[in-house]
Amino acid sequence: MTVRTRFAPSPTGYLHIGGVRTALFNWLFARQHGGQFILRIDDTDVARNIDEALEPILDGLRWLGIDWDEGPGVGGPYAPYYQSQRSDRYAAAVEQLLASGHAYRDYATPAELDEERAAAQAAGKPFLYSRRFAAFDEATAQRYQAEGRAGVVRLKMPREGVLVIEDAVRGRVEFAWEREQDHVIQRADGSCLYHLATVVDDHDLAISHVIRAEEHLSNTPRQAFIGQSLGYPLPAFAHLPLVAEPGSRTKLSKRKLEKYLKNQDFKQVMDHGLKIAERIGLSPEADTFNPVIVDFYREVGYLPWAIDNYLALLGWSYDDKTEYFTREELIRCFSLERINSSPASFDPKKLWAVQDTMMVALPVDEKLQLMLPFLAKAGLLSDPPSPEAVATVREVIVAAGDRLKVAGDILVYADFFLMDEPPMDEAAVAKRLAKPGTAALLKAYAAAVATVDPFEPEPLEAALKQVVGDAGAKVGDLVHAVRVAVSGKTVGPGLYESLAILGREKSLARLTRALPLCGDG
Ligand code: GLU
Repeated sequence: MTVRTRFAPSPTGYLHIGGVRTALFNWLFARQHGGQFILRIDDTDVARNIDEALEPILDGLRWLGIDWDEGPGVGGPYAPYYQSQRSDRYAAAVEQLLASGHAYRDYATPAELDEERAAAQAAGKPFLYSRRFAAFDEATAQRYQAEGRAGVVRLKMPREGVLVIEDAVRGRVEFAWEREQDHVIQRADGSCLYHLATVVDDHDLAISHVIRAEEHLSNTPRQAFIGQSLGYPLPAFAHLPLVAEPGSRTKLSKRKLEKYLKNQDFKQVMDHGLKIAERIGLSPEADTFNPVIVDFYREVGYLPWAIDNYLALLGWSYDDKTEYFTREELIRCFSLERINSSPASFDPKKLWAVQDTMMVALPVDEKLQLMLPFLAKAGLLSDPPSPEAVATVREVIVAAGDRLKVAGDILVYADFFLMDEPPMDEAAVAKRLAKPGTAALLKAYAAAVATVDPFEPEPLEAALKQVVGDAGAKVGDLVHAVRVAVSGKTVGPGLYESLAILGREKSLARLTRALPLCGDG
């Protein structure tokens, strides 16, 4: 059997972290079995501009390396892959279900249904429609229509017995038919409902495994009924555990950002992102500036594989200890059997740790390629950047070492190298230049900087220590003051490396420029 899996997003304008996890598992499973991964667009109930609402989802998947074999942009032998273009297939399925007696036209009004519902409630029983206004033949249907009633099509669901599904994650799952309603599959206006559409599509697109979020488990009986009634073999099912809020079993939601920001780990990730956003003109008010949405991570410069690797372990594990996988390893190691059925808590701190580890391990030139676009976006590089500027950035990356956690961090570390006159942070000036004696120390160090040879980190450090020793001052006082003098702020790459990268002329100019800002300047 050819393995064919699908990810079926609705065009909502954003890619949710939980959605990525579903897409990733489908993709891994298809890749592992040499099958196909299909992207189907569930756009039947979408009023807005589809392309605009779909693009961020496609972009997000592309960025994460989750490539699809069939679907938008690539087409495929089972096209179209948009539900909005498949309505004739759904209408045909409705006709087939009506003809075989697995569905019926129903002419009850909402008020009549409410009445039945209220009566059931009063009797303390679960509501099951009486089928009072069902029309099983054309004559009855016409009579109701003549009364001015609008008809929908409902499934004629079994009312006894059980459905047994072998779910790859949950094992044997039983559903009692008596709990199922006669679900509507076609509205009065002729449009079809989602459950019908998804079953027809999964069949038409020859999907072998339906791997999807747990919230769809309760939809499985009606979908299985539709499929069986249409004579389709059932696909294999795997219902993935919920992606839950940090430390909870409640579904992670993009609408609860305010609540999440009370979580220290989430807040840290967000605050870090805010600093980067500010510099590249990204509005933190944007809907997508939300750590539940993938765009956030892309915009601040996470590594896509860090996200994939982290999300792969959200509900799945290889051996309860391996934490890092290459793409190939993950494709090889993944299995539906090792998916856990309990909710998987999204842990921003853990994601951060994975990102950190992967970033540290990344070769300098790869970091450079990732980081240059951020500097360009912040207006710190010309387009195309000069070779000297690129070389400077490369040196900064080396000097900053593992302090660069995401690609956007380069903005904080490299900006003052690329500016002629970096702005002086007021708090930094007040903290590090105010102490009496600072001007004299800076002046003495400037004199040493003018002659130190070679102009490299070690001699620059030795010279600083000499100046401090001669003045009977503390190393820290001068180190901090020099950092603020040359960069305008208190954080940055190693100080002596920074001076060496800046070069003698610029270092001297900046030390001199800072003198009047000193308390005793
Ligand atoms: N479009 C559905 C969703 O967004 C897909 C459901 C399914 O996978 O069957 O959840």
